[in-house]
Amino acid sequence: MSRLIVASNRTATPGEERAGGLAVAVGDALAERGGVWFGWSGEIVPRETRGIRMFVDGNVDYALADLTPVEHQGYYLDFANRALWPVLHYRVDLAVFDDAAYDVYAAVNRRFGRLLYQLLRPEDLVWVHDYHFLLLGDELRANGWRGTIGFFLHVPFPAPEVFAALPQHHRLARGMAAFNLLGFQTARDVGNFTRYLVEEHGAEVLEDGRIKVFDHVIRAAAFPIGIEPDEVARMAESDEARDAACRLGRIIENRALVIGVDRMDYSKGLPQRLAAFGRLLDDNEGLRGRVTLLQIAPPSRESVEAYRDLREELDRLTGRVNGDYSDLDWTPIRYLARSYSREVLSGLFRLARVGLVTPLHDGMNLVAKEYVAAQDPEDPGVLVLSEFAGAAERMETAMQVNPHDVGGMADAIRRALEMSKEERIERWKVLMDEVSDHDISVWRQSFLNSLEAIGREAG
Ligand code: ADP
Repeated sequence: MSRLIVASNRTATPGEERAGGLAVAVGDALAERGGVWFGWSGEIVPRETRGIRMFVDGNVDYALADLTPVEHQGYYLDFANRALWPVLHYRVDLAVFDDAAYDVYAAVNRRFGRLLYQLLRPEDLVWVHDYHFLLLGDELRANGWRGTIGFFLHVPFPAPEVFAALPQHHRLARGMAAFNLLGFQTARDVGNFTRYLVEEHGAEVLEDGRIKVFDHVIRAAAFPIGIEPDEVARMAESDEARDAACRLGRIIENRALVIGVDRMDYSKGLPQRLAAFGRLLDDNEGLRGRVTLLQIAPPSRESVEAYRDLREELDRLTGRVNGDYSDLDWTPIRYLARSYSREVLSGLFRLARVGLVTPLHDGMNLVAKEYVAAQDPEDPGVLVLSEFAGAAERMETAMQVNPHDVGGMADAIRRALEMSKEERIERWKVLMDEVSDHDISVWRQSFLNSLEAIGREAG
């Protein structure tokens, strides 16, 4: 079995707390095959001391490269976070386009490509992750690498004209065409990417589905990412989970709990969600005093203006609903701007009658899957899911909503609260089968199988 080389902006070094599902999956794949995990060290250091830290854990080598302050600003904060992230999530209005930032992004991909190339052996299988490294494959090729390179985009690939809004999209597309296999979360993303290459770059889709573009023949396919459902189910029954559910239960008493758990990000549809909950109370007098929304959303990347505005808007919306409807013993929206352990979250998911997952756009959305996996099979809650989350493509028995439609969401929450146990169980079973059938190990195995098959074809 060839060695696996994984490149991702952030890596999960051994012993780090709260390694997420992705880190576990990548770590397992690396441990199984042996290999290298390459990425940013998380350190920002002056140019003179910039280096690469290497250490070994079992049969996995970690190679972690530092960034200088200029690189961190241009590559990470400005281009990846303020241009690529918003455009890939359909928020061209929030994107800041800056040629100088792109140049630093390209330079970091070039420098990292050089560093990574030095670690490679001829038979290695290379797997690059996410939008930070769109040019990394091309840079490996520029250094002389001829082996197979796979790429997985964790976020959505938007409609062609949205991606084409990036002033540097031509150069990015050429970079992406250097990968042999491009994996996406959904069939919709694959369709968008293919149409983009055809419309903007005259690509040709071959009979076997491969795409001929810029003198390369590449493959694009969907590999929906998953979770470890058994792990979540186990955590939902842990002491920590029960304890958390008990503490919250004392406060909400016998009221129905509606839960939302997100990173605070403008892609998550939080203002629309809070507005929908407000509308639910406006329109249904009978629900006042009988249902509580718990929204957990720790702030992220506050340095960016758009996030500060979002925080203010959420405070305002929460204030409006709580101001209108709170009573001596009831606050309609409990908004917690902090993060919790996975055990605590699982316990809260299990307690909640309704899980609200309503991003405006999301690559997959793992919270949707975690909510399902945490439920009590005898008395499961209802998932209300945005049709624009990647998860929606295969979670058909969730109550799917348009996250821009505040009235529609309010109505869906009401119906979820009123749903019979029989229907809840019926819907949940189908969702749980999907979450189990496409767990995180199926994701990594199917991607690596496809990548290896391409390697064999290429001989
Ligand atoms: P994204 O990758 O955009 O943040 P996902 O829903 O795909 O969205 O993944 C988020 C992960 O982070 C999930 O595993 C979820 O449980 C976790 N998470 C999200 N919000 C919180 C929070 N407030 N506290 C702790 N963990 C969180």
